[in-house]
Amino acid sequence: MPNKIATRWLLFLFVLSVFFPVRAAGQSQSNFGYGPLPVFELHSGFWINLHHALYHEAKLRTTTAGSPDKSAKISGPTLNTAPGAKPSLTPAEQRSWDDAVAYYAANYAAKDLLFSTELIQLKDQLGDFEDCDELSGRKRKFCDAGLPAKLTQVLEAAAPVYRAQLWPEHDRANRRWIMRVAPLVREQGVGLSERLADIYQTRWQREKIRVDVSGYANWAGAYTTVDPLRVTISSLDPRNQGAAALEVLFHEGSHGIAEPVQAAIIRECRQRDKAIPRDLWHALVFYTTGEVIRPVLGASGATAGEQDGSVPGGGYTPYALREGLYQRDWNTYFRLLQKFWQPYLDGHASFDDSIARMVSSL
Ligand SMILES: [Zn+2]
Repeated sequence: MPNKIATRWLLFLFVLSVFFPVRAAGQSQSNFGYGPLPVFELHSGFWINLHHALYHEAKLRTTTAGSPDKSAKISGPTLNTAPGAKPSLTPAEQRSWDDAVAYYAANYAAKDLLFSTELIQLKDQLGDFEDCDELSGRKRKFCDAGLPAKLTQVLEAAAPVYRAQLWPEHDRANRRWIMRVAPLVREQGVGLSERLADIYQTRWQREKIRVDVSGYANWAGAYTTVDPLRVTISSLDPRNQGAAALEVLFHEGSHGIAEPVQAAIIRECRQRDKAIPRDLWHALVFYTTGEVIRPVLGASGATAGEQDGSVPGGGYTPYALREGLYQRDWNTYFRLLQKFWQPYLDGHASFDDSIARMVSSL
């Protein structure tokens, strides 16, 4: 019954067009050729990359010479100094870009990407609209992102400049980063997430965690916001390359499940009337991810194929050790973690005892 088949086929096409209305070529992809991955969903989205690029440039512009800002740590090319001698911008393009950077400098540069509710909501919204080539809904109602009118105008004006100048390089770096980490996530993702959830005595969230890979992220090179749990990772940051990519992913993902650790530390401090060591839980997350990842990368580290994070003999140096995070207060934490938390990781102590011992030794 060809008619029926034709009708069904048309219906199928109709359904496709309803659910994927603006899936233009080169957009709306995640994981890039690896198909669905377990645990994470890796994106290279245009608007969220533009957002972080503008924030990065605004930050550079507003940082005075006398007070070097941590966010300037990654000094990637900015639009005016891009190597490769791209044709210079037309005056109108330069103005659009400068206006956008000025807007970000005036409105956002003083705010923290991790702590400002306004910036978190804006980031999430721009991530959700990665399929759209506009944000105003002028061409498609579906693409009305509901942002403030001035911001929509600024972003839409800067978009063609970014798309022509920096986006190709950022998108390439994002895809390269994703392609390198994807086989490890496929191979090890489920096991690692289960092991980490067991350690933190909780469950890893059932839905995949959305990860936006972006040329720039924040000063730390990666950050995670909750409700909804979303991760942003810089593909250009030298700290996130090679084998370290897997650790960064799972470190950031662990931000979503480390709450029981914070709660236990606070409880123990309250019982002993001690000041709460604000960063101990975070040092613990760094330590734990490093220790859980280390054997995995020791065995299959070659897959990552990079020098970064590797030591001769195939071992892997965890991020916090390599980047020298265990200094000052964190050095104390590191020694406590080795002494009291490691036995728990090895199965020789309980969660509660380990935390209690660490807190009582502070
Ligand atoms: Zn962290």
